[in-house]
Amino acid sequence: MLRIGLTGGIGAGKSTVSATFAECGGVIVDGDVISREVVEPGTEGLAALVEAFGEDILQPDGALNRPALAAKAFQDDEQRAKLNGIVHPLVGKRRQEIIDSVPEGTVVVEDIPLLVETGMAPFFPLVVVVWADEETRVTRLIKRGLPEHDARARMKAQASDEQRRAIADVLLDNSGTQEEIVEAARRLWYERVLPLAENIRTGERVRIAPRLVPHDPGWAADAQRIINRVKAAAGAKVLRADHVGSTSVAGLDAKDVVDVQVTVAALEDADEIAGALAAVGYPRVPHVDSDVSHDDSDRWGKRLHGAADPGRPANIHVRVDGWPNQRFALLFPAWLGANPAARADYLEVKRAALTAPDYADAKEPWFAEAYPTALAWAEATGWRP
Ligand code: ADP
Repeated sequence: MLRIGLTGGIGAGKSTVSATFAECGGVIVDGDVISREVVEPGTEGLAALVEAFGEDILQPDGALNRPALAAKAFQDDEQRAKLNGIVHPLVGKRRQEIIDSVPEGTVVVEDIPLLVETGMAPFFPLVVVVWADEETRVTRLIKRGLPEHDARARMKAQASDEQRRAIADVLLDNSGTQEEIVEAARRLWYERVLPLAENIRTGERVRIAPRLVPHDPGWAADAQRIINRVKAAAGAKVLRADHVGSTSVAGLDAKDVVDVQVTVAALEDADEIAGALAAVGYPRVPHVDSDVSHDDSDRWGKRLHGAADPGRPANIHVRVDGWPNQRFALLFPAWLGANPAARADYLEVKRAALTAPDYADAKEPWFAEAYPTALAWAEATGWRP
């Protein structure tokens, strides 16, 4: 089963997208709907609220009087915490029940308005953010019947567009027509979400043909999301995680594959976190040469994972703290960044490697020569990881 996260500012069109995903076969777990469900008449949630806030939060028919509850619960932080302490665990429990009951192979879409605010984004292999500019959203909300000052107040209380962009693996632009956003959501589902689910199920990584593209300023943010995911999935076993390789060097053309190095204390730790990385979208690549030809004794061994998401090819190199290969991966971008001549030289080597039988192998001789030069530079400049 794949769980993806869906969010967007109020009025952006999140409900429209989640309805489209549902039509495509996704199971929608909607935070707003669940929060209402768990305090319906007859629930333990409503009983607990009455116990905490009194009978006068009820309407004559016994249903929750939301404004009355809000008046009491939003008085101060203590009352607010009391409310959250009752509702949040029930919502979490119900969410889990729904997730546990879906058939194998289902894609669950967790519709979470406050995905940024709750810090849950890194736990999803894919986060979809629906976006429209503020004025468009306000206009649409007014049309839906929300008073303007209310719409603006709610937007102010939510995360900023910039914060939402930072967690977005996919930014669905809903500036156009309703038909356009529905079409974009469908395409996303069939071209990216389903292949991602299948790749996670089978443990396949995405591979692309070697082709150099101009440096993309978005690579750093892509790498950061991968880093956040790896840290959330593997916890304290990850000593550090860094954006490395060509895509981390400003101004350098590169293959559109983001490299991230995950530093662990020992190769055994790399093996222990393999399952957690696979579950969050980065399956282990079995039998890479470096596993076989290198072991602990020469301290060049590593474990390699790849991305299951066809929309963001990536390599995750899991290496041991202090080993030469781990240090070199950190040194390499720093050295290239500081040495335009080396950068130009490397670009030539990459261009030539494109037509070689194996792109990675073809670059090896250059690396062998560059290694001592880079080490000498580190020595001379006092560079530290
Ligand atoms: P959210 O769930 O993100 O708060 P909705 O999907 O409910 O947003 O959309 C807000 C309002 O805008 C709804 O009334 C919806 O029908 C309308 N809407 C959504 N997308 C578009 C669009 N592309 N063009 C016009 N109206 C739209």
